[in-house]
Amino acid sequence: MDATEFYQELNYTYNRAAKLYQQANTTTWEQRPEIVKETLKELRIALEELQIAEEELLQQNQQLQLANTAAEAERQRYYELFESAPDSYIVTDENGSIQAANLAATKLLNISRQFLIGKLLINFIPVEQRQTFRSRLAQLHQQDLTQEWEVSVCPRNTAIIDVAVTVSTVCDLQGKSTGWRWLLRDITARKQAEAKIRTIQLQNLQLQEAARLKSQFLAIMSHELRSPMNAIIGFSQLLLRQNQKLLAKSQQNMVERIFNSGKHLLTLIDDILDFSKIEAGSLQLNLKEINLAELVIDTLEELHSLFEPKNLELQIDINLENPNIINDNTRLRQVLVNLLSNAIKFTDTGSVQVKVWELDSDKVAIAIKDTGIGIAETDIQHIFDEFWQVNQTISRQHGGTGLGLAITNRLVCVMQGRITVNSQLGEGSAFCVELPRQVDNSTAKNVNKVDVTATVEQ
Ligand code: ADP
Repeated sequence: MDATEFYQELNYTYNRAAKLYQQANTTTWEQRPEIVKETLKELRIALEELQIAEEELLQQNQQLQLANTAAEAERQRYYELFESAPDSYIVTDENGSIQAANLAATKLLNISRQFLIGKLLINFIPVEQRQTFRSRLAQLHQQDLTQEWEVSVCPRNTAIIDVAVTVSTVCDLQGKSTGWRWLLRDITARKQAEAKIRTIQLQNLQLQEAARLKSQFLAIMSHELRSPMNAIIGFSQLLLRQNQKLLAKSQQNMVERIFNSGKHLLTLIDDILDFSKIEAGSLQLNLKEINLAELVIDTLEELHSLFEPKNLELQIDINLENPNIINDNTRLRQVLVNLLSNAIKFTDTGSVQVKVWELDSDKVAIAIKDTGIGIAETDIQHIFDEFWQVNQTISRQHGGTGLGLAITNRLVCVMQGRITVNSQLGEGSAFCVELPRQVDNSTAKNVNKVDVTATVEQ
C-alpha cells in the first residue's frame, strides 16, 4: 500500500464515520441503541483496516530507509571515485560555470576548490583561444559526447599546458540536459614528444638531403675525374709501349709509376662512383642469362697474376647441375673480384678455396675461403662499413680503400641475395654469397641503405 492508497483508506473510513454520525443524529431515541451497535461494528472494522494500513506503512518506511542508506552509500562511492580519479573531472552548467571539480582537476588548474566553484571554465583558457572555445561550447549542444578536443589551459600561476578534453552531457532525472562533464587529460608530455619527433623527422629529411647531395657530388666528381685519369693511363701506356728505346731507364721507371698510380687511382674512382650510385639508388642491373661456372673460372684466370707471386694453392669446387643463372655479369664479376682479391691480399701462405653449389632449385651459393690473417671478433662487425679497414697499417700495406666489401655487400643486396662472413684471427676467413637463381629486376632497382644487412657468423 502506498501513501495515496493509505489516504484513500483513511478518507473512506472518515466518510463512513461521518455518515453514521449523521444517521445517529437523525434517528429516534428508540432506534439509537441499534445505530450505536451498528456504528461500533463499523468503527471496529475501520480501526482494523487502519491498523493493517499502518503496519504496511511502517514496513514501507523501513524499506525506504534501507533504500536511502544504500543510495547514500552509492553516492559516497561515486564521490570517492570522482574525487580520487587520476584524471581531472569538472562539472559545469550549460554556461560553463564550474559546479564541481575533483582533486586532480584542482591540481591541474593549481587552484583550491573553493576558488574554483562558481568560476567560468573559460577563465582558464588563454585569451587568444577563448573565441574558439566559445564556439566549440556552442556546438556542444548538438552532441552528446565530444572526444579528444585539444585545448591549451592556463593554470593559476604556472605555465600553459596542453590538455585533451572529452565532454559529455549531464542530465537531470527527467533526462533534461543540465550541463557538461569535462574530462581533462594533461597531454603536454605527449605534445612535447610529438614536437621532438617532428624536429627529428625534419633533421632526418635534412640529413637525407645532405646524403643525397654528397652522393651526387661524389658521382659528379668521380665521373669528372675518370676522363683525365683515362688519358693519363692511356698516354703513359703508349709511352711505355712505343718509346721504350727512347726513354732512359729512370724515365721509363717514372712513366711506369705514373701508369700504375693512374690505374690505382682509377680503381679508387670507380669504387667511389659505384658506391655513390648504389647509395643514390641509381644503380641498375643489366640482367641476362649467365653461366655461373664459366664466370667463376674466367674471374679466377683474370686474377692469376695476383695468385702467382704468392704461391698460394687454389682449390676450386664447382658443383652445379644447372650453371645458368639470371644476373648482371659485370656486377657479379665485381663481387667475385672483390672477395677473391681480398682473400689473396690477406693470405701469405696456404690456400684460397672457391666453392660453388646449388642451395635449392631457386638459389645458388658461392663461398670464398682463405687461410690468411683472419679478422678479430671486435672488427668483424664493421667489416661491411664503408671506408673501414681492420688495421690501417696492415691494410695500408696492402692498399685498398675500405670500400670493396661495402660495395660488395650492397651489390649482393641489390641482387636480392645475402652475404655472410665467418673468420678467426690468424686462421683465415670465409665469405659466402647466396643469390637467387633469377634476380627480379623490378625489386632489384630499389634497394636503399636501410635494406643493406650482412650477417656475421661467429
Ligand atoms: P679494402 O679495399 O681495404 O680491401 P674492403 O672493404 O674490401 O676494403 O675490406 C675492408 C677490410 O676488411 C680490409 O681492409 C681488411 O682489413 C678486411 N678484410 C677483408 N677481406 C679480408 C680477408 N679475406 N681476410 C682478412 N681481412 C679481410
